[in-house]
Amino acid sequence: MKAKPTATHVHLETFGCQMNEYDSELVRSLMKQDGFVFTDDRERADVILMNTCAIRENAHNKVYKHLSELRKLKQQRPLVVGVLGCMAQNLKEELTDVQPLIDVLAGPDAYRQLPMLIRNAMLSQEEGLDQKGFAVDLSEYETYHDVIPDRLDGVNAWIAVMRGCDNFCSFCVVPYTRGRERSRDPEGIVQEARRIAEQGFKQITLLGQNVNSYRYGDWDFAKLITAVADVPGIERVRFTSPHPKDFPPSLLEAVASHPHICKQIHLPLQSGSDRLLGLMNRTYTNKEYRALVDRIRTLRSDIVLSTDVICGFCGESDEEFSETYRLVEELRFHSAFIFKYSERKHTIAARRFPDDVSEPIKTERVTRLFNLQRNISYERNREYLKTTVPVLVEGNAKRSAEQGMGKSDGNITVIWNKRAISSQPGDIVSLAIYDASSTTLYAESPPVHESSAPRPPQNHFGKLRSKTEHF
Ligand code: SAM
Ligand code: SF4
Repeated sequence: MKAKPTATHVHLETFGCQMNEYDSELVRSLMKQDGFVFTDDRERADVILMNTCAIRENAHNKVYKHLSELRKLKQQRPLVVGVLGCMAQNLKEELTDVQPLIDVLAGPDAYRQLPMLIRNAMLSQEEGLDQKGFAVDLSEYETYHDVIPDRLDGVNAWIAVMRGCDNFCSFCVVPYTRGRERSRDPEGIVQEARRIAEQGFKQITLLGQNVNSYRYGDWDFAKLITAVADVPGIERVRFTSPHPKDFPPSLLEAVASHPHICKQIHLPLQSGSDRLLGLMNRTYTNKEYRALVDRIRTLRSDIVLSTDVICGFCGESDEEFSETYRLVEELRFHSAFIFKYSERKHTIAARRFPDDVSEPIKTERVTRLFNLQRNISYERNREYLKTTVPVLVEGNAKRSAEQGMGKSDGNITVIWNKRAISSQPGDIVSLAIYDASSTTLYAESPPVHESSAPRPPQNHFGKLRSKTEHF
């Protein structure tokens, strides 16, 4: 038997949602335990892994583009290329037919096998063979409960409290790529939260495809999030996503009353048309969704609401799109992720309903809704002018190291001049807001006086999306 190589360098790139970022932390942990070393430098890597997303076609295209860039590298030196995550799961053999340069495929439930698959692929290359390693079986039990994620520095730590999804929304590929829904044991989650606090993280985001269906013995999600928020040292707890069909009053109570649970809820709408919501298998109506928003805002008017909307789903008429438009106009979310419908293989919609809204019409509807939401986000953010907002400091702003960046309790980005406000990542500072765009609040400290001239409005209309998409 050949000696195990001592330092195999791995470069891992992550595409898609927060659950994928979390899964990459699991992958790093499992591979480091097995002696692999991670590098940010693709040129130095012996192994290049891509943790992929399959939710929309453009996510696929990004991965294919990356793969074609790797072809040249692979011609120059021995290199193992692996595709992980939802795309690996969904496309299985087809992906390796299309891309002969892929050596390893590992689905979201197969990461424990990854070190072995990679070593086998390396041995096979040394021997001049070209054996591929696949592990794409879905599990009913895998929650990686015993794997301590290899987290990058920062103020936020993710914990996946459940995996998979049983909802089968007709447009969505997740139940096919991530399998059946399973909840992770709560004691382990709370223990992990304690460890996270000891490591100095200030915020925990609990992840699940539908956190409202979290169940473990007599634990539901409200009990779980309260236990996590009670952990000393954790200042903020967020969660994503709850499904509007079964939002329990106990969770709403916990959000409204617990000082460490952020007053922020992401509540995916998808459509304002009851016919389309039915075809999407969302199991709530326009009226029920509005009633839920009303219930939330009656309990606490300061809860920041965001949503997801799909434009151009199968058979969406002009009037049905207008119903969505009117509902978004009425509900005035703080922000929204607005997507064009993208047909996904295997889904109920792909099997039953034609993808018959043309591309130009999808584009036009997305643009109209985006413009509407951008104006609402701008107005919503300007409601914070001349108020003082507690901000969890994250670090430097992307555009300039002279600016600090952090998040409000409602998860809105706040930026300030570091020369005027001194703070460290992890601090919670009270900042006076003197200007706002559709995506960002601008702060000064000490609190701005009524007479202070606000910064002249510049680009108020930024992107509505962040790099890492929620899920
Ligand atoms: N589990 C979450 C829920 O149901 O609220 C959503 C998870 S999904 C990964 C994130 C968002 O992607 C969805 O809310 C939906 O708006 C969007 N999405 C999912 N499948 C899509 C598709 N085929 N085309 C366009 N957008 C899609
Ligand atoms: Fe599950 Fe969300 Fe996909 Fe619906 S949209 S199937 S709830 S992951």
